[in-house]
Amino acid sequence: MAVERIYLDWNATAPLLGAAREAMLDALAMPGNPSSVHAEGRAARAIIEKARRDVATLVGAEPAHLTFTASATEAANHVLSPVYRMGKSRVAIGRLYVSAIEHPAIRAGGRFPADRVTEIPVLRSGVIDVDALAATLAGHDVAEGLALVAVMLVNNETGILQPIRDVSAIVKKFGGLLVVDAVQAVGRIPVSIGELGADFLILSAHKLGGPKGVGALVSTGETLMPEPLVRGGGQEKGHRAGTENLAAISGFGAAAWMMASDLMERNAVIAALRDRAEAGMRAATSDTVFYGEGSERVGNTSFFHLPGLKAETGQIAFDLEGIALSAGAACSSGKVGASHVLTAMGEDATTGALRLSIGPSTTEADIDRFVLTFAKIAARRKLAGKAA
Ligand code: PLP
Repeated sequence: MAVERIYLDWNATAPLLGAAREAMLDALAMPGNPSSVHAEGRAARAIIEKARRDVATLVGAEPAHLTFTASATEAANHVLSPVYRMGKSRVAIGRLYVSAIEHPAIRAGGRFPADRVTEIPVLRSGVIDVDALAATLAGHDVAEGLALVAVMLVNNETGILQPIRDVSAIVKKFGGLLVVDAVQAVGRIPVSIGELGADFLILSAHKLGGPKGVGALVSTGETLMPEPLVRGGGQEKGHRAGTENLAAISGFGAAAWMMASDLMERNAVIAALRDRAEAGMRAATSDTVFYGEGSERVGNTSFFHLPGLKAETGQIAFDLEGIALSAGAACSSGKVGASHVLTAMGEDATTGALRLSIGPSTTEADIDRFVLTFAKIAARRKLAGKAA
């Protein structure tokens, strides 16, 4: 008999919500192009504008300030541009500053050459070193152009929250622009672009129960915007050309709408489940290391290391027992490299860590089976150690 699977890898991607699926199927049945003026076109346009309102609401933004993209990675490549436009004038951005724990989508630097990207260190706590940021920006040469700073709100591996308001105060003091990757935060903690003091937010649908392959760039206004990455037709007010992915955008909107309600209550339940998992792991072993447990973390993530167990081996062992979790971040090649996040935190990243990340449909029974499996794998590791 096949083992029933338990999915505990929501930071890699969240299962598609039923409401998103339905919205997508409805949109797939629509014949019109959203740019067409006839009734079919207008109906498709209405779907996109509704989704724009629903996604913008989730992050306290004006719908007019949201551009749909094909992924958060595309939004990052769009906004991390050395050239911005203010009306018809060109505004140069001299240098990009990114925290050392950013997702590769940001760390790659977008359209900046590598020699114009500076990394800002994080403290052992996994939180960006704001003093280092201030000192680095103090040395920024404005003659080269404005400073562009990109810092994530929630880290995808550790779940640690970053002090974006403090970061924003520093960036504003030096006249720079702030991009916040909010991919792992939306739907999990309240997010407001205005309260964060960000100029731009990057979002992805598939981390909150929407489909894969659609994201958004959100801004506070339209005065200063990055040079478009995808040029062509005038879709998305010229910020992102190409006929819109109607079904994906519709699914994104439906997921955002679902995630906006009961956010705090839902996430309190999720955090209690994560804490239950960690308490269970602690009870089963005395030496499991939980990264970032002393820092403020989002409630759905636990990033841990079990001495004597290589993360890849652990991941396979869990998989064989029917449990999907991650060895560090999911990366496109499927292979697990040393975590740049742990390295940046000054941890030994060579044996790696496992990441449990959960969501609204995770149950207590899922967590209890995870803990039992964890205890079994941990005991095997000890037996192997003794036998050696
Ligand atoms: N930023 C963070 C923090 C992420 O976790 C991810 C996805 O793993 C991305 C960006 C990229 O998102 P997308 O898959 O939509 O390109």
